[in-house]
Amino acid sequence: MLKRYKHLYFDLDLTLWDFDSNSASTLLQIIDEFALKDKINDQAKFIDHFKLYNDRVWDLYRSKKINKHDLRYERFRLLFDEFGITDKNLIEQVQDFYVMRAPTKHLLVKGAREVLEYLYPKYSLYIITNGFQEIQSAKALNSDIAKYFKKIFTSDKVGFAKPDRRIFEYSVKSVNALKKECLFIGDDPVNDVEGPKKYGMDQVFFNPSGKTIEIKPTYEIKDLRELMSFL
Ligand SMILES: [Mg+2]
Repeated sequence: MLKRYKHLYFDLDLTLWDFDSNSASTLLQIIDEFALKDKINDQAKFIDHFKLYNDRVWDLYRSKKINKHDLRYERFRLLFDEFGITDKNLIEQVQDFYVMRAPTKHLLVKGAREVLEYLYPKYSLYIITNGFQEIQSAKALNSDIAKYFKKIFTSDKVGFAKPDRRIFEYSVKSVNALKKECLFIGDDPVNDVEGPKKYGMDQVFFNPSGKTIEIKPTYEIKDLRELMSFL
């Protein structure tokens, strides 16, 4: 089909690196490691609500209302509060554990490795991700996908977060690519579809759960392996 693309930009979390599974297994390890079984009796709620608070503190961080430490601490303070745990020392230790361990997890989204193996000889591949450079790089390294990418652009390093058009602009210009030869692939309707679209870059909406969204992406896929049919 269309062979005009030369540069493919991927989102990382939930597009390639299985954030939900990797985060959940780290959280279960926390319950074990810190002997919290009695207090945290509802594991599903613990995992679900972490995600909720994590998203919430990331919004605060992006709007510069809190710093990096508070981002990491607050998500666990809010979560533990629900289970009646208020020990600040423990919360600090738990957040350190999470930050150290989660990036060592290496479960990938279904089809990710196969697709990267296929695309890697044909295109220049990059990652554009919201997050901290050391964490996002560690995830890519530990899951053994860093080798496919020429560069990982993080909001932390670039200074702008998706969906801000400037992070896309920076990532395209700094590798001397032409916008029309670039394609963005990601799972978030706002960050990964609206953002690149506003910048003028084509997008693939990776939509495994079949969400309905307002905005019309250039392409939409349910399974990453569908990329191999048109790239
Ligand atoms: Mg994502």
